[in-house]
Amino acid sequence: RAKSYGRGCYQIFDTGMHLQILALSQLENDLRRAIERQEFRLYYQPIVSLVTNKIVGFEALVRWQHPQRGLLAPAEFILLAQETGLLVQIDWWVLREACRQMRTWQKQIPTTSSLTVSVNFCSKQFGQSNLIEQIDQILRDTGLDARSLKVEITESAIIENAESAAAIFSQLRALGIQLCIDDFGTGYSSLSYLHRFPVNTLKIDRSFVNRMSEDSESLEIVRTIVMLAHNLAMDVIAEGVEMAEQLAKLRELKCECGQGYFFSRPLPSEQAEMSIAIEQQ
Ligand code: C2E
Ligand code: MG
Ligand code: MG
Ligand code: MG
Repeated sequence: RAKSYGRGCYQIFDTGMHLQILALSQLENDLRRAIERQEFRLYYQPIVSLVTNKIVGFEALVRWQHPQRGLLAPAEFILLAQETGLLVQIDWWVLREACRQMRTWQKQIPTTSSLTVSVNFCSKQFGQSNLIEQIDQILRDTGLDARSLKVEITESAIIENAESAAAIFSQLRALGIQLCIDDFGTGYSSLSYLHRFPVNTLKIDRSFVNRMSEDSESLEIVRTIVMLAHNLAMDVIAEGVEMAEQLAKLRELKCECGQGYFFSRPLPSEQAEMSIAIEQQ
């Protein structure tokens, strides 16, 4: 009995695995096609000054307009894209499109010249040998001032490029590009590297911001990150601000900027444009 039970189990497992592999390779094929067919879209989430309450910039966030499955969030495809090496290509498209869009807004709405656009870089892209040349080319092609661009990179992507990171950071800064460490506080990085890197902004991971109203430990972590950033002459963006209480606490802690559903969800470009146009009035 035990034997047949075991065999049945094995078969179910096997079929399940098989289906999973099929689904994955289907998704991988779709993903390759999506790059050719330009099925990716950018959404723009406002980043708001906690001092002036005005939009200071947008984070560009990728979406996949899948022909059958509809609009997909990064959680549904970014890991596979990373593992198959396709994420680098997607990220280059994202950078070009985000720069083009920001330049267009700056031309259309004169007072937006001080707005920045933040773009996420995956670890592999960050480590590419011709990174600086490629970015420089995109800035030339789109006409965007380097000072309008912010690059977001996670602690883990820094660690994966540990030897080259400091040099890359310096080169990016030399171009005039600003640097953010994304999801700060979640990586297993040593704090000792921070002062060696010319980083402009720490983005506090939303898990801490989420819990800061109920949980005193999270509040202390947020407080500590803000202090650390300020001591190193960096500013701070709190991610995932959803409630007025969180906002009030963040203001008290002198956190410069916030980003989250409390202000706005990520928006398609037309709606993002409207949100800046409204502020100009
Ligand atoms: P991230 O860079 O930390 O981006 C912030 C994520 O938090 C976004 O999710 C955003 O929609 C979400 N978010 C913002 N405010 C709130 C809030 O108040 N509450 C909650 N629950 N969530 C909030 P999204 O767009 O699904 O992106 C997820 C992650 O995928 C990003 O995290 C980033 O790591 C990655 N990603 C997105 N676009 C790109 C891209 O173009 N390239 C690369 N390499 N990664 C990307
Ligand atoms: Mg980000
Ligand atoms: Mg983040
Ligand atoms: Mg995140």
